[in-house]
Amino acid sequence: QRKRAFIAGVADDNGYGWAIAKALAAAGAEILVGTWVPALNIFETSLKRGKFDQSRLLPDGSLMEITKIYPLDAVYDSPRTFQRIRLLSSSSSSSYHLLLLQVKSNKRYAGASNWTVKEVVDSVKNDYGSIDILVHSLANGPEVAKPLLETSRNGYLAAISASSYSYVSLLRHFLPIMNPGGASISLTYIASERTIPGYGGGMSSAKAALESDTRVLAFEAGRKGKIRVNTISAGPLGSRAAKAIGFIEKMIEYSYANAPLQKELRADEVGNAAAFLVSPLASAVTGSVVYVDNGLNTMGLAT
Ligand code: NAD
Repeated sequence: QRKRAFIAGVADDNGYGWAIAKALAAAGAEILVGTWVPALNIFETSLKRGKFDQSRLLPDGSLMEITKIYPLDAVYDSPRTFQRIRLLSSSSSSSYHLLLLQVKSNKRYAGASNWTVKEVVDSVKNDYGSIDILVHSLANGPEVAKPLLETSRNGYLAAISASSYSYVSLLRHFLPIMNPGGASISLTYIASERTIPGYGGGMSSAKAALESDTRVLAFEAGRKGKIRVNTISAGPLGSRAAKAIGFIEKMIEYSYANAPLQKELRADEVGNAAAFLVSPLASAVTGSVVYVDNGLNTMGLAT
C-alpha cells in the first residue's frame, strides 16, 4: 500500500521541505503539502505555470505530483484559539492582538480558509482518512537578526511558537489519523547546542526546544500511536528562510572549509536522509537527532 505524507513548510523549490517531498515521492509516497498562507498564491501559481517543472524531475524521469496543497499557518491551533486570543487581547495591547490585526488585515489571508492546524488536519482526514508520514520543515523568528541579549520577550516567544510549538501542535493533531508504524520528522540546526553568533532572536532556543521535544514526543507518540519521531540537524543551505538570516553564504563557506566532507551540502542529501528515517529501514530509530551536515558537528577546531 502506498504511503501518504504530509509535509508542512513547502513554498518554493529551494528549501529542505521541497527536497524531502521529492525524496518521498521518488520512494513512492503520495505527497500532500502545507504551505504558509502568505506564500500560498505565488507557490500555487508558479507550480501551475511550470516554473518548478525542472526541479520536479524524479530519478525515474517522471515529475513529482503534489496531490493537494493545504493553506497552513502553524502558529494557530484552531479557530477557537484564534477567537480566544482575540477575546483575551481585546482588553490589552498584547503581541497576539497585533499579530491578529496583521493577519486579519493581510490581503494574503483573505482568499484562504481553514488554515489553522486543527482545520488542516480535519481537511486531510475528510479528504484521505489517514497519513503515514508527517514532516515539519518550517521555522520563523521575527527577531532572528538580533542577538539573544537584545531579543524582546515577544520576539522570543514568537520564535518558539512558530518553530517549536508548531511541531507539538502538528503532531498532536495529526497523531489520531496517523497509521501505526508511521513516522514523523523535523529539521533542526546545531545552534541549539553550540553558539552560532548571528542565529539570534531566540531561534537557537527554539531549536533546543525542538530537539528536547523530539525525545519526549518520541516516547509519547511511540506509546500512544506506535509513531517514531526524529529530527535532522542539517548543515547550511541557501534557502529562502536561511537568506533572511543574513549570513548563510558565510556559513556555507565555513562548512566547506572545515567539515570532514569538503563538498557543498545539497538539499536532496537531507531529503534522502529524511526518506530513510521515515521509512521502515529506520524502524528502530526514534527520539534521535541525526546530523546531515557533511560531519561539521564533529569538529572541535576550525582548520
Ligand atoms: P524554507 O524557506 O524552504 O522553509 C521554511 C518554510 O516555513 C517556508 O516555506 C515558510 O513559508 C514556512 N513558514 C514560516 N512560518 C510558517 C507558519 N507560521 N506556518 C506555516 N509555515 C510557515 O527554508 P529551509 O531553510 O528549508 O527551512 C526548513 C527547516 O530547515 C526549518 O526548520 C529550518 O530551521 C531548518 N534548517 C535550515 C537550515 C538552512 O541552512 N537552510 C539548516 C538547518 C535547519
